[in-house]
Amino acid sequence: MAGIGNAIIIGGGIGGPAAAMALQRAGIEATVYEAYDGPATGVGGALSIAPNGRQALAAIGADAAVAAVGRPMRAMVMQSWTGKRLAEFAAPERLPEQLLVWRYELYRALHAEAVRRGIRIEHGKRLVAVEHAPHGARATFADGSTAAGDVLIGADGIRSTVRSAIDPGAPSPRYTGLLGFGARCTGDGLAPTGPKMHMVFGRRAFFGYQIEPDEAGWFANLPHPTPMRAAEAQRVPAEEWLRRIAELFRDDRTPAVEMVRRTRPEDLVVTGGLEDIPRVPVWHKASVVLLGDAAHATSPSSGQGASLAIESAVQLARCLRDLPVAEAFAEYERLRRARVERIIAMAARTNADKAAGPIARVLRDALMPIAMKAFGDPKKFAWQFDHPIDFAAPVVPGARATPAGRG
Ligand SMILES: Cc1cc2nc3c(=O)[nH]c(=O)nc-3n(C[C@H](O)[C@H](O)[C@H](O)COP(=O)(O)OP(=O)(O)OC[C@H]3O[C@@H](n4cnc5c(N)ncnc54)[C@H](O)[C@@H]3O)c2cc1C
Repeated sequence: MAGIGNAIIIGGGIGGPAAAMALQRAGIEATVYEAYDGPATGVGGALSIAPNGRQALAAIGADAAVAAVGRPMRAMVMQSWTGKRLAEFAAPERLPEQLLVWRYELYRALHAEAVRRGIRIEHGKRLVAVEHAPHGARATFADGSTAAGDVLIGADGIRSTVRSAIDPGAPSPRYTGLLGFGARCTGDGLAPTGPKMHMVFGRRAFFGYQIEPDEAGWFANLPHPTPMRAAEAQRVPAEEWLRRIAELFRDDRTPAVEMVRRTRPEDLVVTGGLEDIPRVPVWHKASVVLLGDAAHATSPSSGQGASLAIESAVQLARCLRDLPVAEAFAEYERLRRARVERIIAMAARTNADKAAGPIARVLRDALMPIAMKAFGDPKKFAWQFDHPIDFAAPVVPGARATPAGRG
């Protein structure tokens, strides 16, 4: 039985609506406050929902809603720029298939599902201040309005205001040395990949692509020495970016140049500098707690940002259902911290390979086939993908996050 009656959630991205649905299942009423005025139509590129993310969605009955907007990504094929296939890895077959979704479609699906369940999502509410109250917390928004709850959950992304409110010394996002781009284009006449994402450590930049009869999509990570925020990168005309991207892939034996050539400038998604935060020291204070990128921002190289946010939403709701607030937050952090930081660190190593300079690149290309041989072993990454959460099981402080032997 939940010890609290209501929660206010700051941020209506991916983790916010997932947390509201999980809390509702735990008997806790939650309202979501989102800074933007309306739905994020057309914003963001493609991201993956890993098998563990789907397990977490299933725990709150939201997997079908997300599966309806995703397309299967059954394996990842690693290639060198010479066209050589280095490795193929897939999650164990007993797990749900990995999905490729466009962020705005994921966002729309989660919102629609939350609203269908009677959850209130208020737009145009940009949090500017957090106050601790004797029995809960109060949020103040830029429009002067306020909201109070027994707990306040900061699901407000990598530049979280809630994070700074509970720890003014909290770290800022770290630039990975890479700029992100992506787009859909037509695949006619290109060699189909089927439901497999091909990833290429190119001579000068990193390229990912999937080509199916009805749709093709690609993403690129370009080494860039200085950070560039999304708004700044978006000021460069898309035509200019497409030209620069095609130029960087000119020597690689991949469909990169052709796919970039087929991309309409208006379809190019310019993400800007890719970022992460290796460790957020303070996850909670009094009645305030962080979730998703606010607590554990991993770069897109992990393919896990959305999945980890959803996992955290589910675990936080279980903890608040079964334990008093202070213990719930401590147990939630214990269940989550080691796992998310391990995944953030793994992605950071991948980023270093992607951003390698000319000399490091030679070494990387020489060692890659050996590394891939080891990495291609599904047992090595099953811990990441196999993370079932039994929502109904009572939270026992100190117990494992998942059944013995699994992630
Ligand atoms: C616009 C956008 C585009 C993205 N595109 C990609 C992508 O292409 N590929 C990829 O892998 N990942 C992308 N991400 C990141 C990915 O969505 C997250 O890593 C992941 O889903 C974790 O979700 P989250 O809910 O913790 O954070 P987010 O999905 O970042 O959601 C945070 C939400 O909080 C809101 N917010 C922020 N500050 C305040 C405030 N002060 N008051 C109220 N609300 C606030 C934001 O508007 C946002 O809706 C994108 C994120 C955003 C916001």
